[in-house]
Amino acid sequence: MPCYNEEQVLRRTHDRLGHALRDLPHEIVYVDDGSTDGTWPLIRDLIAETPADTPGHVVRGVRFSRNFGHQAAAVAGLAEATGDAVVLMDADLQDPPELIPSMTEQWFKGWSIVSARRATRHGETRLKKSTAYLYYRLLARLSDQPVALDTGDFRLLDRKVVDFVTSLGEKELFLRGAISWTGYPETSIAYERDARGAGTTKYTLRKMLALSRTGILSGASALPLRIPTCLGAASLVGASAALARGNVRQAARFGSFGAQSLACGVLGEYLIGVFRQVQDRPPYLVMERTDSHRSTDSHRGTGAQAPLARVKEWA
Ligand code: UDP
Ligand code: MG
Repeated sequence: MPCYNEEQVLRRTHDRLGHALRDLPHEIVYVDDGSTDGTWPLIRDLIAETPADTPGHVVRGVRFSRNFGHQAAAVAGLAEATGDAVVLMDADLQDPPELIPSMTEQWFKGWSIVSARRATRHGETRLKKSTAYLYYRLLARLSDQPVALDTGDFRLLDRKVVDFVTSLGEKELFLRGAISWTGYPETSIAYERDARGAGTTKYTLRKMLALSRTGILSGASALPLRIPTCLGAASLVGASAALARGNVRQAARFGSFGAQSLACGVLGEYLIGVFRQVQDRPPYLVMERTDSHRSTDSHRGTGAQAPLARVKEWA
C-alpha cells in the first residue's frame, strides 16, 4: 500500500484491513512515499501494536528517502511483499479492504490477475470522472494489448505476475500496462468506489498528466509516433490531386509538407525500434509446459494449486 501524507486516514484503513483479513493469513506492507506529515511515525506505531507472535499476521513498513511517486511506491511494495498473491491498494479507503476475500476466492479458482473494476465512483469531481473515462478509452484504443476499462491499480496479482513486474526494471513503468501485457488469465470484480476516507487527493494535476503520458508511452503503443507518417502520406495524396488539377503551387506546398512529415515518420519508426529494445521486455512469456513424460505443469500456469497448498499449511 503506497502512502503519501495519509496520517489522517491510515489508522482507519489499517483497522478495516485487519478486520477484513482476520481469517486470511496475510502480510501488510506500507510504503511511505516520502511523506512530510506523521505517516511514518504512524506506520511505526501500527507495527509496534501488532503482536509479534501471530504467524500469518505481519505488518511491515518501508520508507522512501523522498517522494518518488505512486507507481514507484507500488512497485516497491510488490518487491517487498513475500506472499503467493499480492493485493495492491490505495491507503485512502477508496479501495474497500472488504473486497480482498472475494478477490482471493477468484485467485483460488485459478485467475492470476483479479482486478477491481469501478462500477461507480463517489466523491470525485466531474472533471476527474470525465477525464478518467475518456483517458481509459483513449488508452484502450492506442494500446496494442487489451486494457481493462475503469480499472485502477487495485488488484490481486499472483506471485508469478509480481515476479515478472518487479524484474522489469523499467524506469518509467506503467504498472497496469505491464500487468495486462503479461497476458496471464485476468478477471475482474465490480465495486462501488467510495470517496476518500479523509484528507485530499495526493495525485496533483501534474502527477496525473505524468501518469497519463507514461501510460500511453509505455503502453507500448507506437501510434503517436506514426502520426507524421500518416500526415505525410495524406499530404502527398493531396499533392498528387492538386497536380492532377494543374494547381502547381498547391501541389508544391502539399508536397514539401508531406516530404518533411514522412521524414519525421521514418525517424519515428526507428525510435519505435529503439524504444522497444531499450524497454527490453521479453519476446514471449511461457505460461504452461507439458510433454509426454510428465503430467501438465498446470500450477505454474494457473497459480491455483501451489498457493492453496501453502495457505493451508500456514493457516
Ligand atoms: N500516493 C503516493 N505517492 C504520491 C501520490 C499518491 O504514494 O506521490 C498514494 C496515496 O497515498 C494513495 C494512492 O497513492 O494511497 C492514491 O492516491 P490518491 O488517493 O491521492 O489519488 P486519487 O484517488 O485521488 O486519484
Ligand atoms: Mg484516492
